[in-house]
Amino acid sequence: MHQLTLAEIARGLADKKFSSEELTKTLLARIAQLDPQLNSFITLTEDLALEQAKAADARRANGETGALLGAPIGHKDLFCTLGVRTSCGSKMLDNFKAPYDATVVAKLAAAGAVTLGKTNMDEFAMGSANESSYYGAVKNPWNLEHVPGGSSGGSAAAVAARLLPAATGTDTGGSIRQPAALTNLTGLKPTYGRVSRWGMIAYASSLDQGGPLARTAEDCAILLQGMAGFDPQDSTSIDEPVPDFSANLNGSLQGLRIGVPKEFFSEGLDARIAELVHNSIKVLEKLGAVIKPISLPNMQHAIPAYYVIAPAEASSNLSRFDGVRFGHRCEDPKDLTDLYKRSRAEGFGPEVQRRILVGAYALSAGYYDAYYLQAQKIRRLIKNDFMTAFNEVDIILGPTTPNPAWKIGAKNSDPVSAYLEDVYTITANLAGLPGLSMPAGFVDGLPVGVQLLAPYFQEGRLLNVAHQYQLNTDWHTRSPAGF
Ligand code: GLN
Repeated sequence: MHQLTLAEIARGLADKKFSSEELTKTLLARIAQLDPQLNSFITLTEDLALEQAKAADARRANGETGALLGAPIGHKDLFCTLGVRTSCGSKMLDNFKAPYDATVVAKLAAAGAVTLGKTNMDEFAMGSANESSYYGAVKNPWNLEHVPGGSSGGSAAAVAARLLPAATGTDTGGSIRQPAALTNLTGLKPTYGRVSRWGMIAYASSLDQGGPLARTAEDCAILLQGMAGFDPQDSTSIDEPVPDFSANLNGSLQGLRIGVPKEFFSEGLDARIAELVHNSIKVLEKLGAVIKPISLPNMQHAIPAYYVIAPAEASSNLSRFDGVRFGHRCEDPKDLTDLYKRSRAEGFGPEVQRRILVGAYALSAGYYDAYYLQAQKIRRLIKNDFMTAFNEVDIILGPTTPNPAWKIGAKNSDPVSAYLEDVYTITANLAGLPGLSMPAGFVDGLPVGVQLLAPYFQEGRLLNVAHQYQLNTDWHTRSPAGF
């Protein structure tokens, strides 16, 4: 039963082959048996899950239908969940029980999804390896010595290991697409404003976006349908109609113009990944797509711009965790300054402290113009590059990451080498565009992803292309040995 996709689960539940309660119990037992190897969950919500599963079964018995009704999922542990610990992977929030559900959580629960637990993540979503979590590193089910990617690494590892059919994630600079690539999943970062950020603990507010991680594009369509939509509680949510993603997966790719940016194939890209990306292009060409070489000339500035803007926003967002309003409080403070200092020094891990320092520096009066303002200008140039490219092509294709999953600990002494792994994903966040990663093969037994980018609100186009690709390839069906 654990091998079933969301789409197959929906059919099985509709045909009464099994109940949501049975499925939930099976997966909870599997998590208990296998998760100790992976560390993909921070909190399990068994009681809530069984209650939701029984309620979903009752709704189905009353004639209700719906692709998510009774479907087990997990939530990245930065989506607030009423009465359940929402830690953000940090000691700072180790004892925080959210007093309300995030909009995404509430919408999925209303659609009948069953929450099995809260998944592990990089602390405050800062990282590309899921090594910075207060709750320990997550292991990649394809090779337990390697990272699963991050920051949504717990969601990715759990879905890849068939502990869950799908899970939510968030993507500020690649944290859905990159772990999807590194664990053989399909992951989608929606257009900025498509999915509500209300109740999603902020890292960098102008970049953060929630989205689905699943094994197939078909399943991403189902989960995204339950997450997307205008939310008056989020002032950056966009009031744009949400199409029926599942109904639009079968469009023909005849004449689809795919732009391949030369900057995506420059030095730093593993040659074996380049070859797999070219193979995926051939598959799409056979389906009728037309390939056009394009250029995104400002891409080289994306990492420096992102690593100013994201920490700047983080330094502001994380100021609320001061031991008074929110978060861990130190013992016996001497005075107020001591309370702030020690609470934050004890509550935040080293990567989070590094980002706060970088961000506060970039925003300081003397350096604002030199760093923050410059970075914002580069951000606009990157967006303009995409707008120019999308005048000529329907989607853009390239690798999701320059390398396959690295060994746990391999980049610990050099944070910048980890930042460089985000080179292909962060441009979509800077521009606010939707992006998807899909499985495209293996290098040394480790999965590789291909990334697709589309114009604003064209998530449906990404899902359509990925679904057609998946009908003609079987990379996404492979599962890791031992799981
Ligand atoms: N790796 C990037 C960072 O550390 C992106 C993380 C994310 O998308 N949340 O900031």
